[in-house]
Amino acid sequence: MTKQTTMRGIVLPGNSTTETRTYDVPEPGDGEVLVKVQASGICGSDIGYIFRGYKSYVGVSGPAYRGVIAGHEPAGEIVSVGSIRSRFGIGDRVLLYHIVGCGQCSNCRSGYYISCSSPERSSYGWQRDGGHAEYLLASERTCIALPDALSYVDGALVSCGFGTAHQGLLRIGTSGADDLLVVGLGPVGLAAAMIGRGLGARNVYGVEASPLRRKWAEGLGLFDAVLPADDDVNSSVQEVTVGKGCSRVIECSGSAQGRSTAIAGAAEWGRVSLVGEGGRLDTEVSDLLLHKQLTICASWVTSLQDMERLAVDLARWQLHPDVIVSDRFGLGDADKAYALAAGASAGKVVIIPADEPDDRHSVAK
Ligand SMILES: [Zn+2]
Ligand SMILES: [Zn+2]
Repeated sequence: MTKQTTMRGIVLPGNSTTETRTYDVPEPGDGEVLVKVQASGICGSDIGYIFRGYKSYVGVSGPAYRGVIAGHEPAGEIVSVGSIRSRFGIGDRVLLYHIVGCGQCSNCRSGYYISCSSPERSSYGWQRDGGHAEYLLASERTCIALPDALSYVDGALVSCGFGTAHQGLLRIGTSGADDLLVVGLGPVGLAAAMIGRGLGARNVYGVEASPLRRKWAEGLGLFDAVLPADDDVNSSVQEVTVGKGCSRVIECSGSAQGRSTAIAGAAEWGRVSLVGEGGRLDTEVSDLLLHKQLTICASWVTSLQDMERLAVDLARWQLHPDVIVSDRFGLGDADKAYALAAGASAGKVVIIPADEPDDRHSVAK
């Protein structure tokens, strides 16, 4: 078989379009591996920070996106290894922690590459080439073994979205003693419901404004009730919880209104995790926070170790993130994929770059 020397990759010009370019297939150097990408998710942050127009991080000058191949939620198979000493070898199935940290600062040493303080920090699909391509040059340190029981699409979803939801639930100590309220049923909210089930939550309730998303969420069988985010939402939550509220709440909508719903829906002594990006938090303090003895936790992404643990636990729980995927597209249809993800997809949108996808491990559903 002749070795492939060029590949297609998708860049985002920042005007709500996509552009396909041809690149040389990279060669892995020391500490790197080459991954044949089998699945690559589109994340809400790709839409908000890159697709519609380039935005900066707060406090950082210039756009967060540097014109590289997009896609920060990749999973695939290692096809070439750059170092003799490597944890992974050719043929290994991996998902990627989506940020390459310096590896030396205190956050990196505890696995939180997301909070790396070095200027070297780079995210796939933002500051270094990402997963919307046939191949991805990956830092070996960011590779996480994909358990055999999980499909590549499962793996791509663990990268970023499921990792974020998982950490949000770990930070508030979700367990079998809890009822869980999930506010905002986009991909991260659906992830929170699935992981909440895995962690044993007794009842899982969802709140969502979009009728399309509510219908999709109801079809997944993860929720005891899916409630509309309307003017009566607070009383609806009280009704399904028999006036108690939920001991654990995770807010994934990123809206001020969603945060108010989350706080109002928390039980006395409850814990609320905020993971949705953007917007503001506006709340009455005495009755809603102090007198209810609430704990509010703000959580940003996850650590390498917790992402690794999540992949193992999902396999053990026999739960498959890929059930929340509503739409799959080839690389040639990246424009359609992004338009749908930026508009009104029911669930998660994923790009499958390979012409002949290898989903041997995908479980028949
Ligand atoms: Zn993301
Ligand atoms: Zn660092």
